[in-house]
Amino acid sequence: MIDSPDVTQFAVSRQFETRLFIDGEFKASSDGSTFDTVNPATGEVLAYVSHASLDDVNHAVACARRAFEHGPWRRMSPKERKRVLLSFAELIERHSTELAVLESLDNGKPVRDALANDLPGTVELLRWAAEATDKIYDQVTPTSGDIVSMVIREPIGVVAAVIPWNFPLEIMAVKVGPALAAGNSLIIKPAEQTSLSLLRVASLANEAGLPPGVLNILPGFGETTGQYLGRHQDVDCLSFTGSTEVGRFFLKYAAESNLKRVFLELGGKSPVIVMDDVTDFEAVAEQVANGVLYSQGQVCSSGSRLLVHKAVKGRMLSAIERVFRRWTVGDPLAPSTRMGAMISEGHMKRVLSYVELGKKEGATLFMGGAQVLAETGGSFLEPTVFADVRNSMRIAREEIFGPVLSVIDFETVEEAIEIANDTNYGLASSLYTNDLNIAHKVSRAIRAGTVSVNCFSEGDQAVPFGGFKQSGFGGREKSLAAHDIYTQPKAIWMQLR
Ligand code: NAP
Ligand code: MG
Repeated sequence: MIDSPDVTQFAVSRQFETRLFIDGEFKASSDGSTFDTVNPATGEVLAYVSHASLDDVNHAVACARRAFEHGPWRRMSPKERKRVLLSFAELIERHSTELAVLESLDNGKPVRDALANDLPGTVELLRWAAEATDKIYDQVTPTSGDIVSMVIREPIGVVAAVIPWNFPLEIMAVKVGPALAAGNSLIIKPAEQTSLSLLRVASLANEAGLPPGVLNILPGFGETTGQYLGRHQDVDCLSFTGSTEVGRFFLKYAAESNLKRVFLELGGKSPVIVMDDVTDFEAVAEQVANGVLYSQGQVCSSGSRLLVHKAVKGRMLSAIERVFRRWTVGDPLAPSTRMGAMISEGHMKRVLSYVELGKKEGATLFMGGAQVLAETGGSFLEPTVFADVRNSMRIAREEIFGPVLSVIDFETVEEAIEIANDTNYGLASSLYTNDLNIAHKVSRAIRAGTVSVNCFSEGDQAVPFGGFKQSGFGGREKSLAAHDIYTQPKAIWMQLR
């Protein structure tokens, strides 16, 4: 248990909101059905959560539609909406410890990461979008004097968001911020593994003064609740974060229903290139560890392919070994823990099956590769590194979504670029070099939405985030670019007499 009395208190109190949040109220699902949510660090059931049925989805969409067409939210002045969203962010900040503990219990992530990153990130994302509300201007286009032509931005209407389990609050905020700032109504389906933190912030949304129907939370399964939203005739936009495989379904759902706008933030197999001019291997290894071990490797932008120049491969691997051993695996509520539990036993087994596959494919298991702390009842894995990987192997091509690094070597910068781009994905990438020319050349040559040089970073809330190729579809999140997902331009053309 972490030393802080607050963390201990929240961890033992076990009072969870588990009901659907529709039209500003919590209610059980219409058919009374529930599903369990498990603490993956212990294997214990934390709570039984209401499962949103088709009737519940229809009801929530009707409430969101009513709020959009007739409610006050869209009609408020931008500065009023800003005030409510800022107060929502403020309330989340005030409840940071409680929410960080919830996130850790439900997801298995170290509470220190939730406190240091998930919560401040959530608050920043909401604040940034709130602050933009009254700073985005419409346009008047160039015309002759007898014509006025304006391009105004209008909210798109009822937005549904289907999100994954790895960063529930932050991914909620990356969508809620710009969608609500623009005046839309929103329905969120959390991943079945992690509904608790979102249901907790729903009551903070009420407290902040968000009108009923503007924000609704519908826990449930993907194939039921998620699909009902994806196929709904009265949902105008579906914003999804998750796997590429499920992302494709939403394009199909839209094609087979009302052609709703679809935005997809998907998976990756991001390359990390280490050139032969680097000198501080320990520092690079720290960044590599951040890239592939943080959140137990369950990060879409995870730097899971290490492309290392042959001349420095030995030194790089020994630095990695030293640094990775410092990433202690253990109780997510303990302050020293760097790596907590995998999201579920099933997912842990899936990652372990990739370890077996890597061995069969002929890669060298350099370190790790096993479950640890099995006596806790939890699903823990140790940091794992494969060397001598070829980019054609499945462990180099498929998203493992665990703490597994594939090391591939190269001899020239051209070869590194070719390997880096030889993937169906294109979400992120990193490069370590002291050569300014190589830094610029490689940054431009890589086909990915983000390139970080001499660090592992996605940037902050002011920087657009999204993927090339099969890592994304339909726009960019964060920054003012996110506003484009949740608004549509209207042209007004007026002939003057
Ligand atoms: P996932 O299986 O794609 O699930 C994401 C969400 O989609 C969940 O809410 C899930 O519901 C729902 N879903 C599943 N099947 C569905 C279906 N047939 N119809 C409608 N909805 C469906 O992804 P995950 O396992 O939660 O997360 C891991 C994946 O997400 C990784 O591939 C990772 O790369 C990606 N990811 C990407 C980003 C990014 O920003 N690009 C961020 C985080 C994660 P249930 O799980 O409740 O059934
Ligand atoms: Mg859980």
